Formats: sequence, structure tokens, C-alpha cells
Amino acid sequence: MLTAIFIVERGIDYVAADYCLSCGHALETRSIGGGERRACPNCSYVFWGDYSIGVGALVVKEGKLLLVRRAQDPGKGNWTNPGGYIEQLEPIEETIVREVLEETGVTARAKGVVAMRDLPRSIHNLYVAFEMEYISGDPQPDGVEVDEAGFYSLEEMQSMHVAGFTRWLADIALNGNSAGLLVDAAPLVPLNGHGLFRIPTSTKKEVD
Ligand SMILES: [Zn+2]
Repeated sequence: MLTAIFIVERGIDYVAADYCLSCGHALETRSIGGGERRACPNCSYVFWGDYSIGVGALVVKEGKLLLVRRAQDPGKGNWTNPGGYIEQLEPIEETIVREVLEETGVTARAKGVVAMRDLPRSIHNLYVAFEMEYISGDPQPDGVEVDEAGFYSLEEMQSMHVAGFTRWLADIALNGNSAGLLVDAAPLVPLNGHGLFRIPTSTKKEVD
């Protein structure tokens, strides 16, 4: 019989694995790296926790931010910026470009990271917000995930049902005075397969 292990920490309860995801053996609780972990006595598997990473796009055109209206729960009817969850092997720069194109038909390019949100809960979520350069396309909703799409000013957002977190991001996108962490496409040291985002330095002023 499968039995779930519930762990309560900081007032949040979450489910830990009971069987090894690698070999299927029953897990045991062991002290690893200063914490109690569920680990496999038969192989090297350790349950480190449940995590997810979201990416959000801040595409600005002529002082207006690209927003979509969610057609599905959670948040159905709310206006948000386009975004989604990262895939196992897809670089996040590609994920965010793909999500913008899929949800709105707009082609945009990732410039850099301008905001992050940390949400520790049963699935610990990290959200990375990208400033995107608009390239082409008129916003068209995909009709599945979103049923409206367009560019809106902060003033226009006043009378729209914009999600609270999206209002926080809209202020950064439209009033921000720093470019944040820029995409480093030509790092000082060759680092194949790394997605690199950084502040400029005196040794490397231009990053693009
Ligand atoms: Zn195992």
C-alpha cells in the first residue's frame, strides 16, 4: 500500500516521497547535509523536495505592457503577463520566447532578468521575470490558455482586473530604471550549455 509521508515545516505541510523514484525501494529517513531527508538505502536517490520554476515576460512597446487574459483557472478572467513553467532541458530564454509566441503570437527577444519572486510552499516556486524586446506581431490570444491579448498602459490597467503580482511587475516593466541582469551571450570564459545573466562590469561593459 502506498502511504504518503507528510512533513510540516514553518506551518506549511508537504508530501515527501515514500518510495525511490529511481529503483522503487522503500525510502528511509536519514540525516543528510544538516537536515532530515527521505533517502534510498538501495541506491543514491535522495528526495530533496518539490520545486517548480516559472518564467514571466515583460514585453513593452511604446510605453505599454503586453498582457493576456487567463481563460483557465487558476486566475480565470485575470489579466497577467505571458509566462509559463520551464521544461527539464529547455533553456529558460527559449521557454519565455516560446510562451510569448504561443499565448499571443508576438515575437520577442529576452534582454535580461528584472525581477524574481520566491514562493516557499508545498511546491517551492521560483519565478523569474524577463524584460523582453518586442520584435514583431500583433497580439492575438491563443484561444485556449488566454482569450484576450494586447498592450496596455498603467492607466488602462486601472480599470482592468489585473492580478496583484502582475501590477507589481508592471511597475517594474514601465517605471524601472535599471536593465537588471543582462543576457551574456559572449562570456569571458567559454561555458557551453550555461544560460548566463549578469550585471555589467568594468572588464565587460557590453553584454548582449
Ligand atoms: Zn533507490
